[in-house]
Amino acid sequence: MKELNECIDELRFRLAEGVKNVVIVPHISPDGDAVGACSALAEVLSRVDIKWNILTCDRVPEYLRFLKHIPSAISNLDKPELCKQLSEEADLIFMLDHNSVRREGDLEYFVRNSKAHRVIIDHHPEPDAQNIVISDSQVSSTCELMYVVVTSIWGKEIITADMANSLYVGINTDTGGLCHNSSRPETYRIIASLLEAGLNKEFVHKHVYQMNNISRLRLIGNTLLNKLQVDEHYPVAIMPITKEELDRYGYKDGDLEGLVNIPLSVHNIEVSIQITERKERVKLSFRSKGNIPVNEWAKAWFNGGGHINAAGGQMDLPLEKVISKVHATMPLFFYEYVK
Ligand code: 5GP
Ligand code: MN
Repeated sequence: MKELNECIDELRFRLAEGVKNVVIVPHISPDGDAVGACSALAEVLSRVDIKWNILTCDRVPEYLRFLKHIPSAISNLDKPELCKQLSEEADLIFMLDHNSVRREGDLEYFVRNSKAHRVIIDHHPEPDAQNIVISDSQVSSTCELMYVVVTSIWGKEIITADMANSLYVGINTDTGGLCHNSSRPETYRIIASLLEAGLNKEFVHKHVYQMNNISRLRLIGNTLLNKLQVDEHYPVAIMPITKEELDRYGYKDGDLEGLVNIPLSVHNIEVSIQITERKERVKLSFRSKGNIPVNEWAKAWFNGGGHINAAGGQMDLPLEKVISKVHATMPLFFYEYVK
């Protein structure tokens, strides 16, 4: 594998050759890390006079729309023709916070067929082969890596207060408020630099954590009170959520953010799984403590993947079947992967 510095140099050279139209793509169901990285990169490109568009295959949750360049993002749900055209015209496509075009929903087809140079900036293991792959699974978040990339190429002076806020959103949310994946001193040096560049932590915290509506609290409350089950034999909590419940509590994108982490606050629960019945398919979210690799569980049986302690997957089966599959694969997973 190439050194990170070499990969950043490849990007530096590519940009120096001249780039006119950039497209920036986060993953499907974008989270704080994906969205923060997109907004920060857009800000950098604006500062160096490179034209950019952020394309999303679905919607950015409301609580992340305060970041400077997110309101101008174009959703493929609203403007598929424009997304197609911009992907065709692009000479560089940044794939942020995901390791494969398969995580781009309906944009995948446009990105695959574009002649643009493709650049991954990401922290998930096993990235796809692309023209430039800037990947480090040791960092807390793509936003942390984005800071390294951007300051290596343009120097610290390029960081604005808006960029600092965007990058901090990713670092903070991907680490559960600096709880996990955040033991490297470098992460805190970067946060210190962001503060020096004008990061407004209170402003970010207010938008990310204090803009809930009451229906989100009730949906979470209902799930914890009435739906959470703890397995009899394994330290696993499972929370199924039906479409009917989402409708009943007026679900909006982002309303379930963070719920899957809550069962891990119980001393003898090591794995938490949220199983949500969505429009087309059932979505699974896995979280774990310590060295229980839930990404292997997601990858082996649920068409997914992710990080050792935070992974996801999806199934084209009825909710009840998916729940049964989780129970059926639990002994296999613990036997094969948990030492
Ligand atoms: P979440 O539970 O927040 O949706 O996802 C947690 C992590 O799991 C994400 O950061 C992402 O790395 C990974 N992930 C979620 N869904 C999928 C999926 O369908 N496929 C893969 N490969 N990874 C996923
Ligand atoms: Mn991330």
